Amino acid sequence: MARYQPGQRNCILMAAYRRYGLHTAVSSASSLYNYFAVSGRATSHFYIPADGSVEQYIDTKFRSTAHLNGNHDTITVETQDIGGPFPKWNTNGSDVPAWTKQQVEALAKLGAWLHRTHGIRLQLCPNSKPGSLGFAYHRQGIDPWRVSGGEFWSKARGKVCPGDRRVAQIPQIVNRSRQLVTGVAGGDTDVALTKADIPIIQEAVHGMKLGRSDNTGGLALQRVMTLPQRADVAGAILGAKYKEYVDEKGDGTRDMRTVADILFSTHANALQVKAQLAGLTEVLKTLATGQGLDADELVTRFGAKVDEVFREFVDEARVELVVDDTQG
Ligand SMILES: [Zn+2]
Repeated sequence: MARYQPGQRNCILMAAYRRYGLHTAVSSASSLYNYFAVSGRATSHFYIPADGSVEQYIDTKFRSTAHLNGNHDTITVETQDIGGPFPKWNTNGSDVPAWTKQQVEALAKLGAWLHRTHGIRLQLCPNSKPGSLGFAYHRQGIDPWRVSGGEFWSKARGKVCPGDRRVAQIPQIVNRSRQLVTGVAGGDTDVALTKADIPIIQEAVHGMKLGRSDNTGGLALQRVMTLPQRADVAGAILGAKYKEYVDEKGDGTRDMRTVADILFSTHANALQVKAQLAGLTEVLKTLATGQGLDADELVTRFGAKVDEVFREFVDEARVELVVDDTQG
């Protein structure tokens, strides 16, 4: 729900959309509308109380004032952390309780919306350096957590926002946003493996090694890797430079080609051979008919002989590919 501030004070347009900046409010309020209505208070774009509802105070066209030197390119969200379902905690330390399930889901949905609307990257933002991208949190721009060269996102020192427990939940939020956007979980974010994953991975690796014809390895792979991940792997393999141990030119030089190159040229060669065979078959038919022979019988025998030769050729052919690790 959007309840914009009356006479909104900050109508400076965003310069860019690089980050989704997560905060903890040190507040038990179900809304920060009245708090933010007081002039001079750092105001975020959004607020998410414990129940996961979302309130908006500033249009995302404009800058918020919650992120100091990151205001020009960060969309900010404050979150409730006191009262309601939260245990009592010492607000002087980093003992902020974890976000509720509803807050995690709402933060993820908002992250997915920011991705679709403003192109915010579905990844963890590494630090507060100018130009950094993704899901960030306030203390990345606060000493002593700020990295050297990072922007200051607060004038305070030692402010823990949003606290250890909430920082630890951010990878899960990124992953959930990604799932909402793409329909598949996973990607860049590390997800802890469970014991149940081990046999699946073994099956995938073992299946690949054996080159199983029943595609068991392939099916297992589908279970451990998302489609985009598998596409990345296939792309890496097809694009990799290989040393091809065939001296085609007969001059002692070996061509460096990618697997894709080899597949395409093999395919082109096969098409050429197919066309030549079709032509040869036509010639054979014409000759046979001219000699008063059974053309169909001759073509069938010719075809069988060609098949035989090809089968021997395939059996003998050994394509050996060696990864050339001197190529970047
Ligand atoms: Zn904060």
